[in-house]
Amino acid sequence: MISTISDCTQEPGKCIPVINRNKCEGKEDCKEVCPYNVFTIGILPKEDRSILNFVGKIKGYAHGWKQAFVTNGDDCRACMLCVQKCPEKAITLVKSI
Ligand code: SF4
Ligand code: SF4
Repeated sequence: MISTISDCTQEPGKCIPVINRNKCEGKEDCKEVCPYNVFTIGILPKEDRSILNFVGKIKGYAHGWKQAFVTNGDDCRACMLCVQKCPEKAITLVKSI
């Protein structure tokens, strides 16, 4: 895991965002701020809800299971805008394999 831009190259797809499913509330700030359309907003599938912790389940239920998904990670330039903008601190950039 990395947390600062200096750890990451801005070459497309070298780093990608990972969303903490226990924290995301699907409020779309990441989608709105990302210049490269890396995120889409959708509904967390039922089969993925059982892994959430207690708080994550409460949050998920309260927000209709709406969350952000990384659907275009290859275009991420590691600008960190989504990390800074997420009100839940749910996004971490990691080096892609
Ligand atoms: S900004 Fe954060 S809380 Fe909001 S949808 Fe994106 S990851 Fe989830
Ligand atoms: S780091 Fe920048 S390019 Fe990558 S997903 Fe976040 S906002 Fe988009």
